[in-house]
Amino acid sequence: MIRENVQKILNALPAGVQLLVASKSRTTGQIQEAIDAGARVFGENYVKEAQGKIAVLGKTVQWHCIGHLQKNKAKLAARLFDTIETLDSLELAKLLDKECAALDKKIKVFIEINSGREAQKSGVYPDQLMDFIAALRGYSRLKVAGLMTMGPATTGAEEIRPYFKLTRELFLKVRNASVQLDEFRELSMGMSDSYTIAIEEGATMVRLGNSIFGSGR
Ligand SMILES: *Cc1c(COP(=O)(O)O)cnc(C)c1O
Repeated sequence: MIRENVQKILNALPAGVQLLVASKSRTTGQIQEAIDAGARVFGENYVKEAQGKIAVLGKTVQWHCIGHLQKNKAKLAARLFDTIETLDSLELAKLLDKECAALDKKIKVFIEINSGREAQKSGVYPDQLMDFIAALRGYSRLKVAGLMTMGPATTGAEEIRPYFKLTRELFLKVRNASVQLDEFRELSMGMSDSYTIAIEEGATMVRLGNSIFGSGR
């Protein structure tokens, strides 16, 4: 089923929208099936779990960090991932930049937006984004490549739309601002139950787990 699900989704996604397979808690065997079906971008939530999987599956596909990244895992994350989608603090930016300098590499980062302005959730508040981006200018190893949002947990999928809309507005604001961010082009939003809405609201990357692997673990 994994193969069929990946192929169906790849065929259905409009041009300009990439599939990220959210593979937390899935086995390397399941992930390999998705790779064989044509998936090329994978998202992991936990650094240690990702480390084990990347050791087995290698770097022929892209690995994105999509979970909250603790500062004591920044060093390892900088080694492992191609993109950190959950950059949410300047302290984390500083640690990633430092580690990338030591590794002589650059890393893509998406800024996570706390689009629901929820105190218990991580992410940069919408009204702080432009200052946050300005403050990142000192970190030359970070390529600011997009925005990511989860949005609040909602009961009906349609209720998430305003949060996607807001994040898209921020995305356009950054693109149109005078700040020079050559690689700023990704808008990562939408999960299995909300990705069609996210695409309508301008997502360039959707993060799908259950609709590929099924909801049973
Ligand atoms: C698990 C996860 C997803 C995928 O969620 P599904 O409902 O399984 O599609 C997307 N984004 C993040 C950050 C996740 O942790």
